[in-house]
Amino acid sequence: MRVKVLALLVLVALMGWGAKSRSRASVTKVEGQRDGVRFIVKVYVSGPFKYKTVTLDPNRIAVDLANTVVAGPIEAPSPDDPTILRVRVGQHQNKPPVVRVVVDLRQPTQYAVSKEGDRVLVITMVTTYEPAPTPPAPSPAPEPKTLKAGIPAIDLHCDTVVKKLYPDNIAAFANGDFHVTLAKMKQGSVAGQVFAIWTNARTIPDGYIYANTMIDCFYDFLKAYPNDLAFAGCAQDFEQNRMKGKISAFLSLEGAEPVRTLDDLNYFYQRGVRMIGLAWNYQTVICDTAFDDPERNPTPYQGLSPFGVEAVKRMNQVGILIDVSHASDDTVRDVLAASTDPIVASHSCAAHFMPHYRNLKDELIVGICARGGVIGVIFNPPFLIPDKKNATIAHVADHVEYIARLGGTECVALGSDFDGGIHPPPGLEDSSQIQNLADVLRQRGWTEDKLRKLYFGNFLRLLRQVVDE
Ligand SMILES: [Zn+2]
Repeated sequence: MRVKVLALLVLVALMGWGAKSRSRASVTKVEGQRDGVRFIVKVYVSGPFKYKTVTLDPNRIAVDLANTVVAGPIEAPSPDDPTILRVRVGQHQNKPPVVRVVVDLRQPTQYAVSKEGDRVLVITMVTTYEPAPTPPAPSPAPEPKTLKAGIPAIDLHCDTVVKKLYPDNIAAFANGDFHVTLAKMKQGSVAGQVFAIWTNARTIPDGYIYANTMIDCFYDFLKAYPNDLAFAGCAQDFEQNRMKGKISAFLSLEGAEPVRTLDDLNYFYQRGVRMIGLAWNYQTVICDTAFDDPERNPTPYQGLSPFGVEAVKRMNQVGILIDVSHASDDTVRDVLAASTDPIVASHSCAAHFMPHYRNLKDELIVGICARGGVIGVIFNPPFLIPDKKNATIAHVADHVEYIARLGGTECVALGSDFDGGIHPPPGLEDSSQIQNLADVLRQRGWTEDKLRKLYFGNFLRLLRQVVDE
């Protein structure tokens, strides 16, 4: 939510300091004096890996030093990480140290506070500044030549934002060389796309900053195509967007690397995230993964961590879909036991045809579906059959049918993994081809009603159940 004037009060007590948080926030320096104590505040507000200067009104910053002795001025941000402010605090008599910071930035702002050692308080500012308007795409997407009126499709997973659009490829979305483009989506009657924010823990040092940067990119991207795309945060949004002739863009995290505290789950919900994959290939604070095994990537625990159990409960509470694609078998079992909401596997296949570590064993398919969950079938050949070079659209249909037979028609959906470095089989090469799968299934006797469940109905039902409520 964008608030024009925001006064933020942060009350920090030693006992209640949260985990370290970092800003992506502009630069300023404010010097002042209060109660005889000099203070300097420097706030850095960064855009996507760029720093931008904003001016703060010193009158709008107050430091309340009740019960607190500031042992020194607020330090300049550290040169290696200008997003961190440090305040040294000391105890006054025997009362717990309390620092109150009141800031009106006339921008939506969050403070995160953490403690380093006994005497260093880290205040981090997270400011959702209004980014410069993205120039509209230079040329409108050409109308597809063969517009095929198909079943409205919702695809549960693509990597287009992170791998194709960021940092400066937004204009190319109209008709670029990606699996998912505006022209191709229109051609394939795609009505909704879940855009994943993927964080590789081995190459990205700070998943939180990275995810925020990518989410900024996602919104910049939507702003560039206002007539064709619109954010969807629930099933109702999807329906309204459709009435307006717009494609719905949903937002997900692939891997919980950006999540460090339970409150981060609320924070990412506020930023529009409605589905969180608990892990990618490497163990997160929440769980171990399908890729982890004792030899390849040993982990200190199997399944959900104690924090992971709490995270599942918080996601239930907040209304975030829990995505177990990439999670280990133990994690899926633990999530099924801990979650009161049905869950999703956004891009996975059946291990029955291909024992890939990422594919779901029968027991897990049954478990997910029996609880009302949904499995998005992935189009990636190594997941389809052992001989990946000869994978076809028929093999994708096999997985769809198998999962539907095992779990019911209500639990299967589409989870392409487009633009995720995959080479989809002929006939499903990109978004424009997505109706071809319906044709294959029609030939196998699938009714329009069943196909509509597969293409969008099941996912919408799940959204209504988990997110809309
Ligand atoms: Zn993936």
